Parts: sequence; structure tokens; C-alpha cells
Amino acid sequence: MWCFVPNQVQFRHFEKSELNSGGRLVDNQQKRRSKVKIKGFEVAIGLLMVVVLGSFGPEWGFWAHRRINRLAVYRLPPEMAIFYKRNIDYLAENAVNPDRRRYAVVGEAERHFIDLDVYGDSALTVLPPYWTQAKEKYGEDSLRKHGIVPWYIQAAVFQLTEAMRQKSPTRILRLSADLGHYVADAHVPLHTTRNYNGQLTDQVGIHAFWESRLPELYAENYDLWVGPAEYLPNPGKAIWEAVAGAHAACDSVLAFEKELTGSFPNDRKYTYVERNRVLVRTYSEEFSARYNSLLAGQVERQMRASVRMVGNLWYTAWVNAGQPDLAPLADFEWDAEEKSKEAADQQTWLQRLLKIRPEAEDN
Ligand SMILES: [Zn+2]
Repeated sequence: MWCFVPNQVQFRHFEKSELNSGGRLVDNQQKRRSKVKIKGFEVAIGLLMVVVLGSFGPEWGFWAHRRINRLAVYRLPPEMAIFYKRNIDYLAENAVNPDRRRYAVVGEAERHFIDLDVYGDSALTVLPPYWTQAKEKYGEDSLRKHGIVPWYIQAAVFQLTEAMRQKSPTRILRLSADLGHYVADAHVPLHTTRNYNGQLTDQVGIHAFWESRLPELYAENYDLWVGPAEYLPNPGKAIWEAVAGAHAACDSVLAFEKELTGSFPNDRKYTYVERNRVLVRTYSEEFSARYNSLLAGQVERQMRASVRMVGNLWYTAWVNAGQPDLAPLADFEWDAEEKSKEAADQQTWLQRLLKIRPEAEDN
């Protein structure tokens, strides 16, 4: 994932077992706070947001998602840019919403990955490219258990196309921001394997190493500018090709780290850095540089491909919706009602995440 981040090797909160359990962190937070009655709900949520997000780690996974959405806007034709550029900050800021929801909303977590190797070596040929056929063949529960990102992106494109048809600015923005997130996740090699954190090959921590530590060290030099958006006549096919490309990269992601570890003194593999005023163990710059050089620009390539695909899918949805005139939406402002709905949505995620009872019941 370009997900929840942590450069901290020892924070393994992105592991599915932890997602399923809801996380000890949550319970601890709740315990600590259970005796404190806070009446100002918004203030409480704000504080808890800081605590929770701060506990999960710093901003690098977030940085990648935000950057991908932001750069995708610059790929759009003027007819779309007139609306998207005006809302570029929203699209960047909300690129991380799906990761915030994944700990709180049932059904969210599986939208971020697919464990292709669960389906054997021929996964890409045996898995039906479309959701209905896939459900018939494997059953929905089984599919969801192993991740549904390639199918969910297709559904998101469909929803975005409908929102474009309806010329609904709020829906277009929400769906575009979310779509950008799932597309970026689908380009992360370790989002396509059940060995998603090297836990099956004694390489625990590699997930954050690839998606957070390497961008932290090297993203400044990435060239993420790609050309204008292109129409995709078959979005489903393009999405599956992207997932296949990410999966093909898994071998090198894992093998190079293993190879390097074998030839590297253990005391030089890791170092300690300060994160949120806490010293945490992470991969040393020396080890990271060697690994990055073996990967030969892979992280940058995958980020570029994400930017390209996000722009292409936004553009394709607009074309398929009949190229609606977005100019009248350009002056759109979130009104009070929409703003409060956004805030309510976020409160709902946090309430579920932190298991807070609504104030009305809290007496
Ligand atoms: Zn994600």
C-alpha cells in the first residue's frame, strides 16, 4: 500500500490479522479515555484523530497517495481541469480517506489488495476479469477474503461515470479521490501477494520499507510528470494489466531484499530514527541505497504508472459519461450541509474505529 505508512519496522498495523482484530491500539486508546467524559464531541474527535493518526505513523504513505492524486489532475484536458484544478487540494487531501476507513468500515479493507498467489501460478488467467463472473466462480466471501482491488476499481470507475452524468460535484470529487487511492494501491507489488509483509519469508517490515522508507529517502528525485490523459476503451483490462505488472515485480521486491540481507552485516541493516519524538527502528540509509539501486527505479516507475492510470480513469469516466460540461461546476463550493455530511462521515469512521458511543447514549 501507499497506505498507512509507517517507516517503523516494528509497527505492523497493516497486517490483516491486526485489521481483523480491530487492533490493540484502539482498545488501549479507549481504555485510557473511558473515564474521561468529553462533552465537546468535535473537539474530542479532533484530539482523537491526532492521537490515532499520530500513533499509526508519520506521513510518507500519505504523501505518496496525495502526490499521485495531485499530479493526475495535471494530466486532464482543459474541459476537466477547469473543475479538477479548482478542487486539487480536496483531491489530494482526501486521497487517504480509504485508508482511514479501512480500520473502521466493514468491507473496506479488502478493496486495497488482492492475494493473487492464493489462486495459484495461473491466477491471472483463471480469475474472471469481471466481478459478476468472479462471484459465480469463487463466491463473494472467498473473493473478499483474498482482496478485490481489481474488481473494486472497475466498480469505482462505473460510479464515477454515473456521478459525471449527474454532474454531481460532491460525488465526482469523493469518487475521484477514492479511485485515485485504490489505483495507487493496485500498483504496489506487495498488495498483490499473501506474503504482503514478507511474513512468510522472514522479511517482516518489507512492506513499509518499499512503500514508505524508499519514497521518504528518494522521492525528491522522482520524475512523476507524465503526459496527457488517455482514453481507455477497456478499463477493466487496463486495471488487470496494472495489477499483473505489480505482481510481476513481487519477485524482485522480495528476492533483492533477501539477497542483500544475506550479504549485509545485521547491525548495519537497521538504524534508529526519530518519529513523532520517538526513536524507532528502520532500514539504514546504506541498506536502503543498495536495495533501491537493485530495484533500479521500481518505486518511481510504479508511482508514475499510478499517476498515469488515475488520470486515464478519471478521463475515461468523463468521456463515457458523454463529456459533460464541468465548467458550471467550477464555482462549486461545499455548502454547510455537505460540509457537515463530510464531517459526520469522518466522525462515523472514528466512532467505529475507537468504539465511541454517540453522545446521546453516553450518559
Ligand atoms: Zn490503501
